[in-house]
Amino acid sequence: RAADALAAAAQDCVMADGRRIEIFANLASADDARHAVAMGAEGCGLLRTEFLFAECDTPPGEDWQAGVYADIATALGGRPLIVRTLDAGADKPLRCLPFAPEENPALGMRGIRFSMQRPDVLATQLRAILRGVPATQLRIMLPMVVEPGELRAARALLDDARRDLGIAAPVELGAMIETPAAAILADAIAVEADFLSIGSNDLAQYALAMDRGNAGLAARIDALHPAVLRLIAAAAEGARKHGRWFGICGGIASDPDAAPLLIGLGCRELSSVANPIPAIKARVRTLDLAACEHLARRACALGSAEAVRALLGKEKP
Ligand code: PEP
Ligand code: MG
Repeated sequence: RAADALAAAAQDCVMADGRRIEIFANLASADDARHAVAMGAEGCGLLRTEFLFAECDTPPGEDWQAGVYADIATALGGRPLIVRTLDAGADKPLRCLPFAPEENPALGMRGIRFSMQRPDVLATQLRAILRGVPATQLRIMLPMVVEPGELRAARALLDDARRDLGIAAPVELGAMIETPAAAILADAIAVEADFLSIGSNDLAQYALAMDRGNAGLAARIDALHPAVLRLIAAAAEGARKHGRWFGICGGIASDPDAAPLLIGLGCRELSSVANPIPAIKARVRTLDLAACEHLARRACALGSAEAVRALLGKEKP
């Protein structure tokens, strides 16, 4: 047990000034979870659940889903697990939930909007998550939020599921901040949400009006654009006002060179793909919060992603 405690302490990520930053992993399977833990992940900051719905002709049942969630929770060995509810949409097609063709799928019926149109699918998923993951380990997160009412509606379904299953323990419910609307309304959303997590992939897409899948724009769409950084700063301020936990799980969190800036903007959890975790931890351990905040202020005052990258000494991959 003492050896376990030592190993756990060695895995904590503490800045040079003593501030704790959580380094979590983005996951989509139990194998991912085992690998992430081996790489030093302290939890899962984003479990994308679309994979459960990808291979079937009808939406997966409650028992089967519960088993998958339980395997992932076990693989994480009790570490925190943030499960994102299904982020379906015509831009992320699923055979089991056919969508009417849409002219602008990224702006269409997706994420929490879709879930509210199919509350049966969301209710089944919530019950499965509650059955599969111990309440102490679990947080649930909603995709594509634009306003606080979506949190209230989802919480009503979550409370129904808890009541049915006899789960008395509270379960944290959070919002992804991946639309400009959610970043701007973050203080109102934080009243209803237990935590906020930036989705920088979609936030960059919607802030810059650049399709994240458009190869012709790949060189220009960049979460380090100062417009995106200012939205992240606004969301962090909204979370801080209500004392809410604030993290980031978009692709930019996987870049060790972005860590000082993201921490300076207010992120206290970075959820990355597994492999860069040791490099991110090593980088974070060298950082000082006041210097990170100074860097963030300078970056937000710039006029382009290129200028921010020059400031960080980091070219776009
Ligand atoms: C994001 O948009 O940044 C995000 C983490 O969600 P996804 O990439 O699954 O849309
Ligand atoms: Mg997203």
